[in-house]
Amino acid sequence: MARKYLLETFGCQMNFHDSERMAGLLETDGFQPASGDSDADVIVINTCSVRERAEDKLYTRLGEIRVAGRESGRRPTVVVAGCVAQQEGEKLLKRDPSIDVIVGTQALKQLPKLVNGSGKSSSAQVDISPYDDVSFPLGMAKASDPLRAWVTIIEGCNEFCTFCVVPYTRGHERMRPVGDILAEVERAAESGRVEVQLLGQIVNHYQAPDDPACDFAELLRRVSEVAGISRIRFASPHPRHATDRLIAAMRELPKVCKHLHLPVQSGSNDILKAMRRRYTREEYLDLAARLRYQIPGISLSTDVIVGFPDESEDDFEQTLDLVRQVGFSFMYSFKYSARPNTLADKRMPDNVIESVKTRRIMALQKAQAEIQLKTYESQVGDIVEVLVESRSRRRDWELSGRTDGWVSVNFSGPAEWIGRVLSVRITAAAPNSLRGEVVGEPNAD
Ligand code: SF4
Repeated sequence: MARKYLLETFGCQMNFHDSERMAGLLETDGFQPASGDSDADVIVINTCSVRERAEDKLYTRLGEIRVAGRESGRRPTVVVAGCVAQQEGEKLLKRDPSIDVIVGTQALKQLPKLVNGSGKSSSAQVDISPYDDVSFPLGMAKASDPLRAWVTIIEGCNEFCTFCVVPYTRGHERMRPVGDILAEVERAAESGRVEVQLLGQIVNHYQAPDDPACDFAELLRRVSEVAGISRIRFASPHPRHATDRLIAAMRELPKVCKHLHLPVQSGSNDILKAMRRRYTREEYLDLAARLRYQIPGISLSTDVIVGFPDESEDDFEQTLDLVRQVGFSFMYSFKYSARPNTLADKRMPDNVIESVKTRRIMALQKAQAEIQLKTYESQVGDIVEVLVESRSRRRDWELSGRTDGWVSVNFSGPAEWIGRVLSVRITAAAPNSLRGEVVGEPNAD
């Protein structure tokens, strides 16, 4: 009987795509998906270490698996993969000796070998070696989304923002050959995917290693030429590398969604400098203004950290002010937590007390909620293009999709419309989504 695996993923889109790869590897090795803990022979936890809370989820989950195993008498092989595995390595075994396999972010391809090896050995199998391998054989990933394909174009990061653990867990920046990327996009289109999301820690820093003429803007142009793909997105760009060529490509290429997630992290120049972001508040505001001028209707979203070491009330007020000036469509906000190995952890005391961090994040989220609702309300009456993704989670007679700007829209319609891009008139705005009605003749094509 086939062995079964359960894969759980915490963290960012890169991690979700790594999980698709691990699922593909395990299924090639004969494993089948399990329905839950009770029938899983292998449980893989793909971890995130970008925030302390994300890391804590691993330890909570390991505890649950231990208790369930004691109660049922069944003991699945437990695999810890991803960023915490890369960061902690064998140290994880001191905290939880029941872990069977530890596999780092750059050794995923070893997963089946390590899992099989763990059945033959009493000691844990550990591989956190940096292979520097960007070959990503095609067909290795198990696509989990019927409409959307994630395609990695860059691994790792060289920026070393002082708060960020990514350069330590994912290694230095490595670019993937443009030929490999285009072949993967073509395969995605052939398998029915209509949207492609290009992934990289600094996705807009792309420069093809095999073609000096192909920077990120040129890559967008080449991906646009792939028949069958109707939408192109990318995550995450760095403001410092948002070039005029990128802005022009976004403006000129109809398939490239008019949405830019542009992490600002802080609105204070002192804090930006301490974070080593290498742009100023003024440069960021200027970039946002140029984007709004050159790409009318563009949706901008961002990430913000509150309570970075030495962040004063004035620094925080500047963040609030920047957020109000830009008018983001949505925002991910976080309280600062020191991450191992980072420069901030080594050199800057985590000196903003928890209650202040909490007060600031609540003020920020309140301000963003007001901005967001106003932004969404201003779209009532507009006709927008929506990629129909699924039945609505709350009302199963409704459909749900996303605008170009990555905002959810719910509307009535039959399931046959899933996978199509339809024109929808916005009829109402809610805090985190829009409601609409399909216009035109969606059954005509
Ligand atoms: S750019 Fe900065 S925040 Fe983004 S992954 Fe690199 S080091 Fe981390």
